[in-house]
Amino acid sequence: MPDEQWNDWSWQLRHRLTRLEDLEGHLELTPEERAGIILSRNKLALAITPHFFSLIDPHSPACPIRRQVIPRIEETETAPEELADPCGEDGSMPVPGLVHRYPDRVLFLVTDRCASYCRYCTRSRVVSGVGEQELETDFDQAFHYLETHTEIRDVLLSGGDPLLFSDRKIESLLARLRAIPHIEFIRIGSRVPIFLPQRITPEFVSMIRKYHPVWMSIHTNHPKELTSEVRHALERLADAGVPLGNQAVLLRGVNDNAETLKDLFHKLLLCRVRPYYLYQCDLIEGSAHLRTSIREGLEIMDRLRGHTTGYAVPQYVVDGPGGGGKIPLNPDYIVAEADDRFILRNFKGDIYEYPLPRTTPSGSPPAKASCGSCDG
Ligand SMILES: *Cc1c(COP(=O)(O)O)cnc(C)c1O
Ligand code: SF4
Repeated sequence: MPDEQWNDWSWQLRHRLTRLEDLEGHLELTPEERAGIILSRNKLALAITPHFFSLIDPHSPACPIRRQVIPRIEETETAPEELADPCGEDGSMPVPGLVHRYPDRVLFLVTDRCASYCRYCTRSRVVSGVGEQELETDFDQAFHYLETHTEIRDVLLSGGDPLLFSDRKIESLLARLRAIPHIEFIRIGSRVPIFLPQRITPEFVSMIRKYHPVWMSIHTNHPKELTSEVRHALERLADAGVPLGNQAVLLRGVNDNAETLKDLFHKLLLCRVRPYYLYQCDLIEGSAHLRTSIREGLEIMDRLRGHTTGYAVPQYVVDGPGGGGKIPLNPDYIVAEADDRFILRNFKGDIYEYPLPRTTPSGSPPAKASCGSCDG
């Protein structure tokens, strides 16, 4: 096909692979995948852009790209601990579509559509429009809430994927947010630069520039996703002054080893993207085959911190199931805490001691833990 079509984002959207027949024409599906495609139809839609589909290795059922977007039969099995709304977002919505969980910032779900659908999507209850629940964002109510809640200084536009809107629609949202004096920080959460890099046009980035500072959190999980088209899209965003962060999800059989993640994070730095979060996979219904244990995640983090550039090491987090919000997870570097010192270990496992201050900041000696008969 001519490059002109391939490079046109609306062509990419119109030619998404959405049916069993579309996939079978290009690769040999395993029985688990075929059954998954048929049986997951009313849970989360199947859609893969031609761009992302072209990264799939048709000969390898274990291809890390494939596992992210092609349904498997395991998706239809719900484990007892799994939840439709694993982050408890519905319970923190003061108005439909606005999640206000943290004191100074909100998550604004502006659409339920994405360029392709990730099988582990934490919002699969509403995303793609085929599940039981519908996203019913009320824009007027949401903007009224944002205008009247002066404690909100940070708005995260997400969904679904806000970059599926037209430039005009995105601009109208940004302009409305920028008209609210207490909102300083705007960011967009999007996987479009990865699924549909053609969307990042010169027109789009010059529109964004008018509303700076606008940050963007992209979502990529495997180094194979950083194609030359994706790198070009990220370059455009970075050149337009959009600070870029990445949110990766730790996924079994996709990126659950330190080497793959290190490679991904190094490549992201070259694209001027700072690895921001590494998410423990949420307890989404039918996600057991994609989840690792937290212990595995901690071991991976232990093999990154200190072993490579600090900028390449994201914060590992888990969303407290049911509505706890993000909880940081770190390997233990504090070996022990004594009365007068901390016992620490470094990235190689060597032990170091750091004493407590001899005096408190106000200048008085620290309270004695024991008898107090001698003062040193
Ligand atoms: C992740 C998230 C945010 C943003 O959190 P940061 O730690 O500031 O990136 C805001 N609201 C909700 C509900 C979230 O889940
Ligand atoms: S791009 Fe994000 S919102 Fe869309 S399906 Fe993937 S994880 Fe869900």
